Amino acid sequence: MQEKEFSHYIQNYPFKEVQQRIYYLNEEKNHTQKTIERIIEKTYQDEHIRWDEFLYLLTKPALDYIEELAQIAQRITRKRFGKTVLLYAPLYLSNECKSICTYCGFRYDNPIKRKTLTVEEAIQEAMILHSQGIRHILLLTGEDYRNTPISYIGEVAEKLQRHFSSIGIEIYPLKQNEYEYLRTKGVDSLTIYQETYDPERYREVHLQGVKRRMEFRLNCPDRAGKAGLRRIGIGALLGLSDPQTEVAMVGLHAQYLQKRYWKTQITVSLPRLRPAENIKNVPLISDSLYALFFIALRIFLPDVSLILSTRESPRFRDNMIPICITQISAGSKTEPGGYSGYDTTEQFHISDTRSVADIVNMLKQKDLDPVFTDWVYVMK
Ligand code: SF4
Repeated sequence: MQEKEFSHYIQNYPFKEVQQRIYYLNEEKNHTQKTIERIIEKTYQDEHIRWDEFLYLLTKPALDYIEELAQIAQRITRKRFGKTVLLYAPLYLSNECKSICTYCGFRYDNPIKRKTLTVEEAIQEAMILHSQGIRHILLLTGEDYRNTPISYIGEVAEKLQRHFSSIGIEIYPLKQNEYEYLRTKGVDSLTIYQETYDPERYREVHLQGVKRRMEFRLNCPDRAGKAGLRRIGIGALLGLSDPQTEVAMVGLHAQYLQKRYWKTQITVSLPRLRPAENIKNVPLISDSLYALFFIALRIFLPDVSLILSTRESPRFRDNMIPICITQISAGSKTEPGGYSGYDTTEQFHISDTRSVADIVNMLKQKDLDPVFTDWVYVMK
């Protein structure tokens, strides 16, 4: 019998109902804070917290406890991950895309210069990262199944295998057998952000392309888990809908994946949307609330790897990494050919432009251990 996937599981947690629940917790300050105090007690007894308790930690009244919660998150992080912080870098293979997502510079109707790297150009880009010490690489494309077919992704991965200990992909959603195929070419991890878990908003911002199929995307991590990928990253683009509810759903999804694909490491990232052309009414997410989201996730899911990308400012990254972040990108470029200096269009502006060496120094100064390799294939 075919096992049910996340799109089925999530039916018991309608987005609007979860949002209303969080809204109530935001308003009922006294009740919420009393419960938060009980949750804090539980963490001191090393007890796991449930998803419904996690919701309390995402609320505005929880901000009054952020220092104490941060200390708890830090203690859990040190216990589970030691002082290690894994470094990786993205490699944009192409900015061609047939989909239209209103929040993205690569969207089909945006008149930008398009470029897909040849396999040789991709290797050249990768080797620049390699010379900086990077050994975990993430290959990215838009959604153009014809110009960047999986045979092309597979060829690039196969050629990079000798040089990199981990090859991840952040490309269009695939079927299970296609993940299995890429696994044979050396791909070991998948990143696929749902962008928004709010079905109404999902329809509004995804105007064209395969990405419009919300359920197909929602079940992508299931298909990758069944295909045996070693690491799966999920997340939401905060700002498309209510951010507290989005994080609640990301937590639910990560917990589901952990239970179902227990041999796979689950990672979570929460990129923040910036106001841009065609993006109206972006809810502003303060740094303190944003920090609280990561802290709450760490307390709820002690073994999930939390990622903070170069979208965020150096100051914010430097403050958050010692508390609960275990994986970061460094020295990133978000345009195809960016490391070689090609003049193409980037997907979004990065905020932390420091080099890999700068990031390594920063981590060492904070008494953390920068790690370039946490995984190697010994047998296949
Ligand atoms: S988010 Fe992805 S699918 Fe959507 S327009 Fe950008 S590159 Fe294309």
